[in-house]
Amino acid sequence: MMNVDLPSPRLRFAPSPTGVLHIGGARTALYNWLLARGSGGTFVLRIEDTDRERSTPENVEQILDALRWLELDWDEGPYSQWERRDRHGEVVERLVDGGHAYEDEGAVRLRVPDAGETVIHDAIRGDIAFPHSAIKDFVIRRSDGSPLYNLAVAVDDLDMGITHVVRGDDHISNTPRQVMILRALSEEPPAYAHLPLLHGPDGKKLSKRHGAASVQDLREAGYLPEAVRNYIALLGWGYDESTTFFTTEELIERFDLSRVSKNPAVFDEQKLRWMNGRYLRELDPDDLRRRLEELTGREVPPEAVAITQEKMQTLTDFWPLAGFLVQRGPFDDRAWARVMRDSGPERLRAARDALEHAGEPFDVERVEAALRGVVERLGVKPKDVFQPVRVAITGTTVSPGIFESVAALGREETLARIDEALRRASGTGH
Ligand code: GLU
Repeated sequence: MMNVDLPSPRLRFAPSPTGVLHIGGARTALYNWLLARGSGGTFVLRIEDTDRERSTPENVEQILDALRWLELDWDEGPYSQWERRDRHGEVVERLVDGGHAYEDEGAVRLRVPDAGETVIHDAIRGDIAFPHSAIKDFVIRRSDGSPLYNLAVAVDDLDMGITHVVRGDDHISNTPRQVMILRALSEEPPAYAHLPLLHGPDGKKLSKRHGAASVQDLREAGYLPEAVRNYIALLGWGYDESTTFFTTEELIERFDLSRVSKNPAVFDEQKLRWMNGRYLRELDPDDLRRRLEELTGREVPPEAVAITQEKMQTLTDFWPLAGFLVQRGPFDDRAWARVMRDSGPERLRAARDALEHAGEPFDVERVEAALRGVVERLGVKPKDVFQPVRVAITGTTVSPGIFESVAALGREETLARIDEALRRASGTGH
């Protein structure tokens, strides 16, 4: 297939810095990177910044940052397309001198033959024929002297020795023009592959409406770069019918264009969440703690990591689950009223006493034995004892495992919070 038939392929990612890096762009970058890394090739980064109004240094920085976060390193660049404008101008002159292009009211147009067609061989879609009758002589340099986009792309791909152009579907209609420019220069075009569009789960083109839409959004939402790489690799590609988890090394080894689909791929954030949760559980707790601190900028107690690792799907799930260890969360009065019904205070008091006398060390086993003892003595359901304790120490009914939570909080703080909650109970007349 396309990525193995040349000794040293050169691929590129060529974002326009007119906004942040979207998920579709990240997939394009990843696929190019995987093909380069899997074939001993070169990955070139080219910033297509010729739209001077919409290209900003901040956007360039955001894109580079997003690529770094995704750990997609480049071997050459970032090149600036704008800085190559003199070279683009030279090529336009050459095309005019060779009779392939001509001036027209100050602009320069490439001559397109009236008859025949230009066929592009797309590695994903097969051959696509563009009849010349549908393409008129097109502008390659504006009357103000600035080169047109298709001219710049064709010249840059040529000069940078690009062997394979892998990019979004939206560039298919540009391709015959780029090919004609290259042929007019007596050069062979690179191989092309156009990736399918991304849709949301509702079948509409992916946008902000579907949740996280940029790499920055994904990072802030607490996804891990390795999970994002794994998930977006599957947007339009699959190794077989069943494999979902791939290490990056496996992706590098297995990814190839022959298994990329022509059909739109669906980005489903729920699936990414699920996958991210699996990746989180596999992390070494110290590594997880470091990532939590990096993302949230707060110090994370190691025992908090231990009790939440199984429950988190994203890093941002952490503080809502573990925050009670640092400070009890806002008290959910309705939850409290519910767990205090039918002699709730008595059950909670019994739990308090059992925890007070649970012995040392105050660990998960002792806490569990103490609380289960209360359940048995009172002849009630486990949750009739566990839930009041949970609300008393966290403020809500949502927390990591109750025994783990109590043990991590420690005896003294647990008893203090239960006492405070019980005072609240008597204050409200229960
Ligand atoms: N700069 C174009 C974009 O961001 C990509 C051009 C290309 O890959 O040929 O959509």
